[in-house]
Amino acid sequence: MNYQMWINAATQANYSLLRERGVQFAGPASGSQACGETGPGRMLEPVEIITALAPAPSRCLEGVRVLISAGPTFEDIDPVRYIGNRSSGRMGFAVARAAVAAGADVSLVAGPVTLETPSGVKRIDVRGAVEMRDEVVRLAATADVFISVAAVADYTPARKAEQKIKKGLPTQKLELVGTPDIVAEVAALDTGPFTVGFAAETENLKEHAIEKLSRKRLDMIAANRVGQDDSGFDSENNEILILVPGGEKYLGKGSKQELARLLIEEAAARMKEKERIETRSDKNIRPASGN
Ligand code: C5P
Repeated sequence: MNYQMWINAATQANYSLLRERGVQFAGPASGSQACGETGPGRMLEPVEIITALAPAPSRCLEGVRVLISAGPTFEDIDPVRYIGNRSSGRMGFAVARAAVAAGADVSLVAGPVTLETPSGVKRIDVRGAVEMRDEVVRLAATADVFISVAAVADYTPARKAEQKIKKGLPTQKLELVGTPDIVAEVAALDTGPFTVGFAAETENLKEHAIEKLSRKRLDMIAANRVGQDDSGFDSENNEILILVPGGEKYLGKGSKQELARLLIEEAAARMKEKERIETRSDKNIRPASGN
């Protein structure tokens, strides 16, 4: 409905009365409206309605500050050309929705995607890998969990041409330089968040994921195969294998939204386990008091 109808005293009184009687509401969402105005009253996205109707999610991240990166990065060559990839951002946005449903306070750093912002999420839009790194590192300072779903470019043009590069030469060379490894940088922070990476691979999925988990010193990695059937990049579905130091769990095949819910529950459980181990070892090294 139009936001003026939603904020009208009569609507709000009915809304409050129904909530007092225990009726649960999904939405409304806020944003641009058909009439050209902006405000609360929009229908939730269908996927958000489905999430709201699903079995009550466990509030396993109540009050936890979760930072998520999602989507591709675009690395500019000149004012009209860029290097991108096929990431749609759907998996990262699904993880953001699942984290909100689990009670988390969610910030989402999104590369260039065409998705609606999930309700209750603080979204920061970025374009290139360096910009994504700056926003993620800034926000990681106050995050408890970082889930790095973005397909960050590994290389970026050494120089961005000021003007459109003209054709004419029979061949062209493009010099590329490596981008900062954002998830590895966050995982290396002294008092950084619990850090979860993603590994999108076309072959030797598990071996590559194990190697990344240890090289990037991550707490957890979600391995998914890409470039095959109806799974992975630019699809509604996925298949995920979770790896943690010394363990693994196959989450199965399914919708990205359902897998995101399972992923969030695994991350919450593993984070609590890690905290327990650290608290125990803190106690062990604390000097005995009194003598
Ligand atoms: O090494 P690879 O790019 O395959 O690792 C995947 C993981 O690393 C993902 O979590 C991705 O978001 C992250 N990544 C990153 N910064 C990069 C490249 C990848 O954070 N420059």
